[in-house]
Amino acid sequence: MIRHLLPLAELEKAYGFIQKSSRLVILTHKSSDGDAVGSTTALCQFVKTIQPAGATTKIVILNELPPYLSWFPSLENAIFYDDNNELAIKTIEEADCIICSDFNQPSRIGAPLDACLLANPCSKIMLDHHLKPESFTDVEFSYPDASSACEVVFRFIYQIQTQILNTPFWLTKEMAISIYAGILTDTGAFSYNSNSPELFEMVGMLLNCQIEKDVIYDRIFNTFSISRMRLFGYCLHKKMQINKTYHLSLIYLTHEELARFNFQSGDLEGLVNYPLQIEKVYYSVLMRADYNAENQPIVRLSFRSQGNRPVNEFAKKVFGGGGHLNASGGEFLGTIKEALALFKAEYPKYLQKK
Ligand code: 5GP
Ligand code: MN
Repeated sequence: MIRHLLPLAELEKAYGFIQKSSRLVILTHKSSDGDAVGSTTALCQFVKTIQPAGATTKIVILNELPPYLSWFPSLENAIFYDDNNELAIKTIEEADCIICSDFNQPSRIGAPLDACLLANPCSKIMLDHHLKPESFTDVEFSYPDASSACEVVFRFIYQIQTQILNTPFWLTKEMAISIYAGILTDTGAFSYNSNSPELFEMVGMLLNCQIEKDVIYDRIFNTFSISRMRLFGYCLHKKMQINKTYHLSLIYLTHEELARFNFQSGDLEGLVNYPLQIEKVYYSVLMRADYNAENQPIVRLSFRSQGNRPVNEFAKKVFGGGGHLNASGGEFLGTIKEALALFKAEYPKYLQKK
């Protein structure tokens, strides 16, 4: 039995917005991952089943997707700001309903899309699983205990169909592929955030849609380029520093090192989890040099931890980011050297020695 977690009154409100919309837009966070792409593409297919004839649904994302994400069903409905600035902005400006999926702060979709989102007074719906949502939507489905935004999307579809439309639950194979891929990503292939038996009931229902789960796994996890695999090897062999007192692993990468391995967006996805496989390493930090939209040097940071050792407070207070208890990220305006100095000065205040 899938519990009805989403309040019916809020669902009815969201359903009303979608049903009345003629130009619906779905947004998700920058540097999208499988959950961001899975939840938006599944939603895109679903809303088309309840929108009036002639209505359009578009997905707008800041950056183009790395190859391991570019195969998702329904991406023909996506507009990438990097690829077509004007169309992306115009699409958000002209939307009469916006669904925000897998993020709960406007800044997470990146500038200038965040300003467009806030400037448009249309009806807005949030479907998300991060802590502490900011209040910028009319309806908020925010479930920090959910494994993924895709789980929230599954529940959204399930409840609209069974409670509002009074039909049996159904998904197309494409919707099921998108949802499964998002859950797979955000649970590290069911290694964390996946203790709820109900999640496995949902997975069972997705498998009933004839999805090929091994093919999805392959597309997400087994698509390394040779240079990406060598970059992983380099990081683990030459760059990983272990601090035994704080059970901490630190890897940082400069522009020069990234260029040497022909770094492409998405190439470092997953690397930050590797050091946690070492006995008694409970924290892992990855820093990589990058540039922001104004071409200033910045550093992108990823934080991971195990057990009851929060990294989100540290990410938020020191690096202006945030995220989940065990998986957070942030950004630093400046060079790797400066980011390292700040990190080294601050981590003893936030990380535990045990
Ligand atoms: P990753 O290390 O994979 O980039 O991010 C891990 C998690 O941290 C993401 O799922 C997201 O929830 C969160 N996160 C990453 N970067 C930021 C950021 O700049 N701000 C906030 N609030 N959360 C972030
Ligand atoms: Mn997510």
